[in-house]
Amino acid sequence: MPADPVSVLQSTFGFPGFRGVQGQVVERVLAGQRTLAVMPTGAGKSLTYQLPSVVLDGTCIVISPLIALMHDQLRAATAVGIRAGTLTSVDENRQETIARFRAGELDLLYVAPERASSGHFRDLLAQAPLSLFAIDEAHCVSEWGHDFRPDYRLLRPLFDQFPDVPRLALTATADAHTRADILEQLGIPEEGMIVAGFDRPNIRYAITPRDNTTRQIADILAEHPGPGIVYAPTRAATERLAAALSTPKREVRAYHAGLDPAVRQRNQADFVASEDMVMVATVAFGMGIDKPDVRFVAHAGLPKSIEGYYQETGRAGRDGDPAVAHLFWGADDFARARQRIGEVEPERQPGERARLNALGALVETAGCRRAILLAHFGETPPDSCGNCDNCLNPPAAVDATETARKFLSA
Ligand code: ADP
Ligand code: MG
Repeated sequence: MPADPVSVLQSTFGFPGFRGVQGQVVERVLAGQRTLAVMPTGAGKSLTYQLPSVVLDGTCIVISPLIALMHDQLRAATAVGIRAGTLTSVDENRQETIARFRAGELDLLYVAPERASSGHFRDLLAQAPLSLFAIDEAHCVSEWGHDFRPDYRLLRPLFDQFPDVPRLALTATADAHTRADILEQLGIPEEGMIVAGFDRPNIRYAITPRDNTTRQIADILAEHPGPGIVYAPTRAATERLAAALSTPKREVRAYHAGLDPAVRQRNQADFVASEDMVMVATVAFGMGIDKPDVRFVAHAGLPKSIEGYYQETGRAGRDGDPAVAHLFWGADDFARARQRIGEVEPERQPGERARLNALGALVETAGCRRAILLAHFGETPPDSCGNCDNCLNPPAAVDATETARKFLSA
């Protein structure tokens, strides 16, 4: 008889109980039902396949898009005593991992979609019992998603060779269109979708047209003495803004992928330890950073999508204390975005355009910002949240919206 999931949650993971929809997801997986779980970043998606991998016989195959992500997960799983392995190009112990899999000694096996879809891998999977296919970052399967990876499309034929092995697709960021696509592409029934709550009530959203970015962001720094992140669109912009915002009293640093890795690492570690530092960064900053007391996130320009905006602003106020997310945008952001869309492959343009229009609706609304965000993630929004710029200060029917409309409608 399989172990009771709640006792495994406590004994193996050391958590007193499930959070949010975790329990529901685990229940479906243990019942062998195909499932898509849409849960925000930090909600604890990994647990929903790790726990079944301990409870069920056989190995859980985890499809994951990034080597760094796999190795983080491997470390975390191994630390709590889960028998896990990764098969990536940088793993020198691949033969040993394969031997452990064949011997039935692995709970979890992490693999990238390119490797998973090879004939070799399919043959390997036939050699030992499987408990589950877990597909992390499942929005990568959809051209409508913001991060399409063609190799994810080759997963379904692999899974279909093992029809009795349950499937669990996981994503933080999927609009209605992308979700429908994930279900279809991975062969998961509609009733198998579970969506977690996306609201972050302690974050106050504000969105303002840009006039003087440096001054506007300097005002935010002055109002919020705690740690903060400023997202800037380019590497050069991060350095420029960091230099302009820095004062003898407030440390402001830049972070982008072009910095020397040692500098990047030091900046990140110092930021995590600091109680007042500001990091001016590209979107490369933030993934996997666990800093609960970020008091503000400012955007110096338009994010890539509502999903990106939600994810980036979501780094504020993880401790539940009040935090603000302030976005500054200009009509030129939309012009540039439209130009970029004109340059991508034709079949991806409708998705990109829909993403831009959704952002347009968010910045131009005179109504509740949170309502737009939550509706985007399929939740029933409140009429008024009481904690965004428009709810706190209802705008007179003004022309800011006209400016936006003009640039959006073309
Ligand atoms: P996601 O993939 O959804 O972004 P993770 O799986 O990385 O989130 O989990 C985020 C954090 O939440 C991790 O530190 C994890 O240990 C923690 N966590 C997960 N489930 C629980 C739980 N039931 N109780 C407390 N902490 C949890
Ligand atoms: Mg995750």
